[in-house]
Amino acid sequence: MDQGRRDTGRGRIAGVTDAERRAALEAIAAEVRDCNRCRLHQTRTRAVPGEGDASTEVVFVGEGPGQNEDREGRPFVGRAGALLVSLLGHIGWGRQDVFITNIVKCRPPGNRDPEPDEIAACAPYLQRQLEVLDPAVVVTLGRHSMGRFMPGARISQAHGTTRLADPATGARDATVFAMYHPAAGLRTPAIERESYEDVAHIPGVLVAARERRAQQRNPPREPVAVGAAATGVTALAPELEPESSDATDQLSLF
Ligand code: URA
Ligand code: SF4
Repeated sequence: MDQGRRDTGRGRIAGVTDAERRAALEAIAAEVRDCNRCRLHQTRTRAVPGEGDASTEVVFVGEGPGQNEDREGRPFVGRAGALLVSLLGHIGWGRQDVFITNIVKCRPPGNRDPEPDEIAACAPYLQRQLEVLDPAVVVTLGRHSMGRFMPGARISQAHGTTRLADPATGARDATVFAMYHPAAGLRTPAIERESYEDVAHIPGVLVAARERRAQQRNPPREPVAVGAAATGVTALAPELEPESSDATDQLSLF
């Protein structure tokens, strides 16, 4: 068997190294910092490409940079970011364990909603980030992000639920999990409470997504008859044995 294409146990095909993934993400980030594909480049201080662990299984997608993010060039560093970090802490994760980015990479002036043509202009960057990251789970934060991954859904009903990602988003084999935007949680205590309930589902969503991806890459086969009909003994193909390696660099689940 070609070791170069062995499944790493993270649901990824080995062959793309972490260093290659980091370099590919940095190349996208450099393009974003220079981008003038939509009018938002005229009013930004700094573009905000996104950041995090290039080898993560989970990507969080917000709406767009706010004032603090625009100043620092980093996503979710203001008050909404503090709530996001607190939500992640609720499941034992830190922001450095995941990848965090936005639908539009430059701040809409006055924090207005991004316009459809701005979202469309910026979409190739997110698509390419997702192609590089190949996440098992995409967590959408808020309506605009959800709209990209769960078209037609209403956030009041869809938050806390999953859908399979359309591979056209760039996430070729991901489960999408919708959450409210942390800024909505800051405004409304009931939404903040629900967000803590929702985030607690993510580890289970990740486990299920890993299993689905492993099955897809290594579909169960008909048991192979050993000694044929004479013995009636069957054995599973060796590929079906669970992977044991690489567990240490996975996100802790509980
Ligand atoms: N809100 C967002 O949607 N994204 C950020 O990066 C910060 C606040
Ligand atoms: Fe380019 Fe996106 Fe910024 Fe528009 S929002 S200028 S498309 S990086």
